[in-house]
Amino acid sequence: MQSKEEIIKEMQEITKQMVIDDIEENPDSENEGFDCDCCGQYKMLAGSVGYGEYRLCNDCVLLAEISFKLGKIKNIKELIDANEDNRLEGMCEFLKQEELKENN
Ligand SMILES: [Zn+2]
Repeated sequence: MQSKEEIIKEMQEITKQMVIDDIEENPDSENEGFDCDCCGQYKMLAGSVGYGEYRLCNDCVLLAEISFKLGKIKNIKELIDANEDNRLEGMCEFLKQEELKENN
């Protein structure tokens, strides 16, 4: 059983690698952008992932995968709904705190 910290660290590595792989495969993806369905921001195409009808930026993919692993959400729709309710802000805050702990 992995600890929360290990899960977050592992997912950070994986999503970082996804950006590198995408750029290697398609160098244009570094300069191309799209509107993320989760955070609503204009983000780099590299490292983004399509979940069914939604496309999430690399930051949101990290958030989504950690949330899945920790059992906080069952599907992407939940994460997107949470974002609409600004509950995501709380989740981001939680992750930031985890990162701070890790750096200390
Ligand atoms: Zn996003």
